[in-house]
Amino acid sequence: MRCAVGDEADESEGATVSYEPVVGHEAEASDEFETRLKVYEGQRAAVARAGKDPVNAPMIRHWCEAMGDTNPAYSGPDAIAPPTMLQAWTMSGLSGHTRGTHAYDELLGLLDDAGYTSVVATDCDQEYLRPLRPGDEITFDSVIESVSEKKTTKLGTGYFVTTRMNIRVGTDLAGTHRFRILKYAPIRREAGREGEPDRRKKPSRPRPVVNRDNAAFWEGVQRRSLLIQRCTGCGTLRHPWLPGCNACGGLDWDSVEASGEGTVYSYVVMHHPPFPAFDPPYAVGLIELTEGVRMIGNVVGVPYDKVRIGLPVRLEFQEYGLQERDEGWVLPVWRAQEAQQMQEVVA
Ligand SMILES: [Zn+2]
Repeated sequence: MRCAVGDEADESEGATVSYEPVVGHEAEASDEFETRLKVYEGQRAAVARAGKDPVNAPMIRHWCEAMGDTNPAYSGPDAIAPPTMLQAWTMSGLSGHTRGTHAYDELLGLLDDAGYTSVVATDCDQEYLRPLRPGDEITFDSVIESVSEKKTTKLGTGYFVTTRMNIRVGTDLAGTHRFRILKYAPIRREAGREGEPDRRKKPSRPRPVVNRDNAAFWEGVQRRSLLIQRCTGCGTLRHPWLPGCNACGGLDWDSVEASGEGTVYSYVVMHHPPFPAFDPPYAVGLIELTEGVRMIGNVVGVPYDKVRIGLPVRLEFQEYGLQERDEGWVLPVWRAQEAQQMQEVVA
């Protein structure tokens, strides 16, 4: 499993990586610093800790409810925990946050002192070696697996630090959890010249996060075709796109094109917090397509406070991000179909 973590990662700002050219004595200083960082590779980031609770059915049930995961493997007398819960069993909760080892703190301190004061989580990668079952008591330790060379990203220049956590039951390795952060010196935003108003352009809308599981969906959207994933084993349609079928567990799939007709199943109106790329308030709809699946999108063509559950909507594709530096991309939005009549009723 691979997942992006945090808003910054979702905006894929941390994703574009290039080498920063270094010259002369600056290069030597940089080499020396990197040698000091490399010393921490292989050192412990956490030593012999125990999970706060044994693997247990109530946490599994709450997780499955929150995820909408009805897989029968996760309930009943022979239940296993969803493998993706791996990290949950290691978490220390909101209180009693435990610190890293001396080596890990020292590494982060070294980066702080060199000006790499910001941090963003970029991704995690898990391997599952043994199912966890209610009653299992886990222990875990963590090692600093790697410190990258200096990298320049859109967020700023810095170093990727990867830790690998090993989660065990007794002597059995149950799984590993690799977690990568970028410690970086943030780029100073260029303010307008003195005496001039600041003419920085509004940031463009965040790009969708495209991964192995949903790439075909977004390729369809770029062609202005809304595709619904279909299990070729049992025919069940699903959205969002996933590697397997929740109904039969099948891994094979194809897709069908959505008719583009739907209704607002639920919605929220975003007021706060304000994101610079958006103009609040605006309505975000959970749209139920006539095919039965639901997906999230902006409801357009009607004032935000006139969006209602049951409002018929029709698919439209809107282009975003055509400003400099950005190649354009397309997002599906949902245009209200009864806006005219509704406005008349309200009037
Ligand atoms: Zn299926």
